[in-house]
Amino acid sequence: MLASKRLSGRFCRYAHIFTFIFGAAGASPALSQDPKPAEPAVKALNNAFLSKLPFADRADFEDVTHGFVATLPDAPVRGPSGNVVWSQKDFAFLEKDTPDGVNPSLWRQAQLNHSHGLFKVVDGLYQIRGFDISNMTLIEGDTGLIVIDPLLAVETASAALELYYQHRPRKPVVAVIYTHSHADHWGGVKGVTNESDVASGKVAILAPEGFLQYAVSESVIAGNATRRRGLYQFGPLLPKGERGLVDAGLGKTLSLGRTSLIPPTDIIRKTGERRVIDGIEIVFAMAPSTEAPAELYMYFPQFKALNMAEIATHNFHNLLPLRGTEVRDALAWSKDLNEALDVFGDKTDAVIAQHHWPVFGGARVRTFLENQRDLYKYVHDQTVRLMNQGFTAPEIAEQLQLPSSLANQWANREYYGTVRHNAKAIYQKYLGWYDDNPANLDPLPPVEAAKKYVAYMGGADAVIRRAREDFRKGEYRFVAEVANKLVFADPTNQEARDLAADAYEQLGYLAESATWRSAYLYGAYELRHGAAKVGRGPATASTLSSIGISPIPKVRLRSPLSTRR
Ligand SMILES: [Zn+2]
Repeated sequence: MLASKRLSGRFCRYAHIFTFIFGAAGASPALSQDPKPAEPAVKALNNAFLSKLPFADRADFEDVTHGFVATLPDAPVRGPSGNVVWSQKDFAFLEKDTPDGVNPSLWRQAQLNHSHGLFKVVDGLYQIRGFDISNMTLIEGDTGLIVIDPLLAVETASAALELYYQHRPRKPVVAVIYTHSHADHWGGVKGVTNESDVASGKVAILAPEGFLQYAVSESVIAGNATRRRGLYQFGPLLPKGERGLVDAGLGKTLSLGRTSLIPPTDIIRKTGERRVIDGIEIVFAMAPSTEAPAELYMYFPQFKALNMAEIATHNFHNLLPLRGTEVRDALAWSKDLNEALDVFGDKTDAVIAQHHWPVFGGARVRTFLENQRDLYKYVHDQTVRLMNQGFTAPEIAEQLQLPSSLANQWANREYYGTVRHNAKAIYQKYLGWYDDNPANLDPLPPVEAAKKYVAYMGGADAVIRRAREDFRKGEYRFVAEVANKLVFADPTNQEARDLAADAYEQLGYLAESATWRSAYLYGAYELRHGAAKVGRGPATASTLSSIGISPIPKVRLRSPLSTRR
C-alpha cells in the first residue's frame, strides 16, 4: 500500500502528457525500493574516466555562457492548472563535483545542459536554451521575428518567447521554421503563433518536404510501442538526482506541457533553395536521411552563421534510438556533414543547432564539423568491414573502438547514441535482425527459454548463488542477463527481481550515455516498484483529422488487387 501511494503521487505529475494509467504489475512488494550506492568496482571505473578524457579542456563551458543576456531563476514554466511543465530547480544537485554513481563524462554534459536563458549568438540572432529539451532560435528581421523550432510544449514555447521580449523589442512573429519532424521541434507552435494568423498569411510556416507525414507517422503506426519504450530512453518517471535522472543527453529532459501542430505553408524541397523573409536571407539544405526522415539545415549569409538543426550536436547521435524508429543512415549523415562543411564551412563564424550550445570561430567550426563527419563515417566503415569479415552485431559492438583523435573530442562522446548500439544499427540497416546462425533462427520465446535455462542450470537458488558471486566481482552485464532469465522464468521471485534491479542499477551508474543510464535505472525502478501501464497516445481521430489525415476506417477495405472472394 505504501508503495502504491508513493507511486501514484509521483506519477500523477506526469499524467498530463503521457496519459498513463499506472498500477503495480502483479509484483510482490520489494524488499528495498530505494536506489543503492555505487559498488566499489563502479567507483573505480568511473574514477578512471577522469584521466581518460580531456577534462582540462573547458571550451564548452565558455561557449555555453557566451552571449548570455538573462534568464529566470530555475527557468520555471507552469501549465494552466499550476502544474509544473518545466523547471531546472530539480537539477540543482548538479552544481557540485561528480558523485560516485554517475559517469564523470555524463555529469559534465549534464552540467552543460543545466545552463539556461536567453543568449545572443551574433547581432540579430538569439537562442533560448534550457527551457525545454530543445532550443528555440530567434532571428530579428526588419519588422518582426523568425522563430526556428518552437520547442515541445505550448507552455515552454510561450515562456521562452516572453523571456526574449523582456529583453528585446516586442516585434511580432512573422515566420516559423520547423527544422524537422520530431515533436520537440514543433509541438509548442501555438505558444508563438496561432492558426488564424497563419491562415491569413500574417505568419508563414516553413518545413522540409515530408514534414507532416513523418511528424505524425511515428506517433501513429508505432506510437503505442514507442511511447512505452520512451519511458526507458528518457526516464521521465525516474526521480531526479545523483542516483536517478541526471540528463537526457540532448538536454535535461522532456517538458510536460500541451503539444500542438499547425501545418506548414511553405515547403522546402531542394538543397540551395533560398528565401528572403522580412529582410533575412536564408539558404536551405536538405538532410533527409540523417537524424529525421524530413530534416533541413540552413545558412544565414548576413550573420555568417550556420544552423545545423539536429545533424551536428554535442554528442554522438542515435542511428537507432532506444525507443525505436526506422534505422538511420550513417553514411548519408557523414556525407551531409561533409556537404555542409564544403559549402558553408569557410564562410561560417558560428555554428548553432537546435540542441546544445554554439561553436564560435571559423577554425573551431570547421574542426567541429570535421570531427562529427568523421565520427559517423568511421563507425559506418568499420562496422561494414567487420560485418563483411563475418562478425555479428554484438561481436562488432564489443570490439569497435574510436581512435583517440575522434574519442577525445567532447562533441563526439556517447551522451545520446553509443558506438556500441549505433554499430548494431548499421548492421541492422544492411543485414537485418538475423545473424545467420540457425540456432537464432527460431529459438523459443523469452519466457519459455528462460524456464528451460533455469532448470538446466540447476534451479533458481543455485543460479542466484552464483550470480551474487559474479555481482561481487563486478560482472554486472552477465548478472543482468542471468537475473533476467530468472525473472522471466518466475516474475514472482523477489530475490531474482532484486538481483536484476541491482545489476541494472550499477550498469546505469557506469553509463556515459544518458539514454543507457535511463534504460538501466528505469528497468531497476520498474522491478522494484511495478510496471507503468501506458494509455492511448495523442494520435486520436480528432487530432489526425485536424491536420488533414483521415482516421483508419473500422471496416477493412479489400484491396482492388485482391483476387480472394
Ligand atoms: Zn530534437
